[in-house]
Amino acid sequence: TYIIAQPCVDLKDRACVEECPVDCIYEGNRMLYIHPDECVDCGACEPVCPVEAIYYEDDVPAEWASYYDVNVQFFDKH
Ligand code: SF4
Repeated sequence: TYIIAQPCVDLKDRACVEECPVDCIYEGNRMLYIHPDECVDCGACEPVCPVEAIYYEDDVPAEWASYYDVNVQFFDKH
């Protein structure tokens, strides 16, 4: 799955939402989240993010590694 990291917080540009072919990017209060079971790893969302907040799960910068769980846990609660 792809995940969304800190640069999205309080920004929510939403360019990625338009690109996703399976509509698996959801809006929360402070950021957007990718549903880990619905994402088909197409990568279409990554280049359109203006703040480079989106990464493939194995490529998340170390300082934002916790955002994997942030994305997954959002869907545990919703
Ligand atoms: Fe949607 Fe593709 Fe991005 Fe996954 S990688 S969130 S399927 S656009």
